[in-house]
Amino acid sequence: MIRLILLGPPGAGKGTQAARLATELGIPHISTGVILRDAARAGTELGRKAKEIMDCGHLVGDDVMLGIIRERLAEDDCGRGFILDGFPRTIPQAEALDGLLDEAETPPLAVANLELDEDELRQRIAGRRGEDQRSDDSEETMLNRFHVYQKQTEPLLDYYRDRVSAIDGRGTVDTVFERLTSLLASTEERA
Ligand code: ADP
Repeated sequence: MIRLILLGPPGAGKGTQAARLATELGIPHISTGVILRDAARAGTELGRKAKEIMDCGHLVGDDVMLGIIRERLAEDDCGRGFILDGFPRTIPQAEALDGLLDEAETPPLAVANLELDEDELRQRIAGRRGEDQRSDDSEETMLNRFHVYQKQTEPLLDYYRDRVSAIDGRGTVDTVFERLTSLLASTEERA
């Protein structure tokens, strides 16, 4: 069974790879960004608040995010494994996730960090600006998201140091996908 956390800076390609892995493996792709953007589109109270926060590049509060993840992981389809994309994003989120998974006595998580340098990230986000129309991809919000990433999310690499694998995020979608699938194959062999 595969339970994977995909880490990496904004623009590294987590969403693309997570969606593809999920299809390939037949397990759910849980993207907190997608969940929040769906809520924003639906115009729920959570969605309206989240949109304001996302549009300035800040993080939605840990308590709110935990509520969302707790509910999502309790759904039946997660019994076969899952890919987390965008969660955890802070140390308290990671600690809470450990608690959630401990309770359920599940095997350890695999953690992959998609690496890409700042220049390449900028280019990708600039490219995405035309296609996805995400209101948080503006130049200013993007800078904020990057700073928030460095300050709040990068410390997770140390938190997960005993199990995180670096994945080179350069190259085509196929190339990166190959790297991830071979990592997962070797993780499964060791399990
Ligand atoms: P990225 O392109 O950075 O991977 P996401 O789609 O994962 O973007 O997230 C978009 C926005 O949603 C974030 O900038 C943040 O405001 C909010 N968000 C998503 N996941 C979380 C989380 N785990 N904790 C707090 N905020 C989150």
